[in-house]
Amino acid sequence: MDPERLVQCPYDKNHQIRACRLPYHLVKCRKNNQKIAKELVTCPYNARHRVPKQELKFHTATCENKVSPEILEVAANPKNKIKQVIAWQCPLPEEDWEADADKSPAPPFVFGASYPGERS
Ligand SMILES: [Zn+2]
Ligand SMILES: [Zn+2]
Repeated sequence: MDPERLVQCPYDKNHQIRACRLPYHLVKCRKNNQKIAKELVTCPYNARHRVPKQELKFHTATCENKVSPEILEVAANPKNKIKQVIAWQCPLPEEDWEADADKSPAPPFVFGASYPGERS
């Protein structure tokens, strides 16, 4: 997150705070909005993190337990991963079973037939 970027305070939309100052502002503003801050939600990255619902967006942006978005994406869409696994498998050889069935059997082995080069 760009520390100089202005972000909107979750408690009061009239507050435009620089991202780097937001944690300090939140502490102050939370005190003025205790009723809102009472509604705690659990951080999706760490169940021990309990943050006011209003602050969850900011918390998840800076959470120390944040995982890379790609991992989250796979977790959210397991199909993506399955697709990948299938792509890794060797493709089955194309077999034409019907044409195979019409093929004449291998020539029968003739007992006693001499092999080329064999002297009798
Ligand atoms: Zn505020
Ligand atoms: Zn967290």
